Amino acid sequence: MLFNSRYLTLNPKLYHQQMPLPLVGAKAGHFNQALAEELQWTAEEQADWVEICSGQKTFAEFPPLAMVYAGHQFGQWAGQLGDGRGLLIAQILDQKKQTIDLHLKGAGQTPYSRMGDGRAVLRSVIREYLAGHALNALGIPSSNAVGFTSSTQGVQREKLELGAMLLRTSDCHIRLGHFEWINQYQSDLLADFTQKCMEWHYPECLLAEQPILAFATQVIQRTAVMIAKWQLVGFAHGVMNTDNLNITGSTLDFGPYGFMERFRPNWINNHSDYQGRYTYQQQPSIGHWNLWMWLNNLIPLRPENYDKEQWKEDLTACLSHYEPTFLEHYRLGLCQKMGLPDFHKDSFDCGMLFLRILQSEQLDYTQSFIRLQNQDYQLLLDDCLDRRQFESFLQQYKQIRANQDTAELDATMQQTNPVYILRNHMAQKAIELAERNDFSEVERLFNLLSQPFERNVALEKTEDLAPLPNDVPEVMVSCSS
Ligand code: AMP
Ligand code: MG
Repeated sequence: MLFNSRYLTLNPKLYHQQMPLPLVGAKAGHFNQALAEELQWTAEEQADWVEICSGQKTFAEFPPLAMVYAGHQFGQWAGQLGDGRGLLIAQILDQKKQTIDLHLKGAGQTPYSRMGDGRAVLRSVIREYLAGHALNALGIPSSNAVGFTSSTQGVQREKLELGAMLLRTSDCHIRLGHFEWINQYQSDLLADFTQKCMEWHYPECLLAEQPILAFATQVIQRTAVMIAKWQLVGFAHGVMNTDNLNITGSTLDFGPYGFMERFRPNWINNHSDYQGRYTYQQQPSIGHWNLWMWLNNLIPLRPENYDKEQWKEDLTACLSHYEPTFLEHYRLGLCQKMGLPDFHKDSFDCGMLFLRILQSEQLDYTQSFIRLQNQDYQLLLDDCLDRRQFESFLQQYKQIRANQDTAELDATMQQTNPVYILRNHMAQKAIELAERNDFSEVERLFNLLSQPFERNVALEKTEDLAPLPNDVPEVMVSCSS
């Protein structure tokens, strides 16, 4: 590994240094060797992956630390939070010379654990491992993981489960909530901290006339793009608190997430989210709300001689980039998924009409786009109760595509519509086997989701392609992880 231990250059009030506390009976779960190679792990480090991913081996170049931050959880100010069960154990350079954080989740209690036990369970570790991998393969900026380990140590949740650790990678673990903590509890650190964030993550902003405004705009735009990409694949993060969004717009901390199957925009995948704050359809507006809360923390960074009111106005204006950025990416993405030309005035409306049909007929989001792509119109029609509605859509759809370069549109469809997403029941099957020490299903899903846009008949199972029948109870996902 090539270290770039830059978090340690921050004021020590922002973290607590401590060693991981290994679990009893730590053992191999799964290792992402391709990622380890991208991260320039040596052969020796790769051979030691179980020790590294279970907290038994750390590095002199980077004394492990827990970060402090704060946040708004489910719309309420939650005060001080922090890494309550994870430690940053390294910052290393990947092959592209980008700095990547290695964060060991489930590594024991820290001063920020509050009532928690500092542990993660095998179930949630596998869910995060596979989803991070799936999102990356789908081209969505997200954390990923080099590997995970299981153990023989019991960890109490709703029932007794197995403890596990995940070695998560991300280009950034600085959350919107970092700014909230600093502004609330240690405001003298705000200017230096923001400067470092810009140097590390947005160096081009330092050249702008107003670096802070440029920085705010960038964070806002990247978050908008990320959320547009979530919407397009049907990903619901599940717990979009300000402490779970980072400043680079890469997906982080998606515990009770879900890939939507039947198209139900108000479906609640996180059963701890009693009010449905974080449903699929709410994500774009919650992103906006979170960024609005975040922007408040930049008010004290007003440059000298800048009018007070003007500064607030100009910061607010940064947020006006959010919606157009989101819409531009969402519109383009939807046209691509539909195989419709983005320049045609009726393409987006036609896409929305298709979504309305999926919603009223409760069709599977992923599978329906694949059927459209394969021109399996009859299969789609046969699943509709309101056949007239579908026929009228199809007529409009064909009309727009007439006289277009359909070969090119079809090729784009193929690159944007996944055949495979991580359905809850797929993850559940892998978890149940892993709890019995059989990681073969994790391995199969890992390989299947590596190339989600390509049919892989040798590896797939029929149930990977469709939702469970309506009469089979859904897998419940909660915040308890
Ligand atoms: P989350 O919303 O899951 O990202 O967690 C919110 C906060 O609770 C974070 O500060 C976590 O570090 C902390 N936390 C969650 N689970 C545990 C646990 N089992 N032990 C200690 N802290 C935890
Ligand atoms: Mg979190």
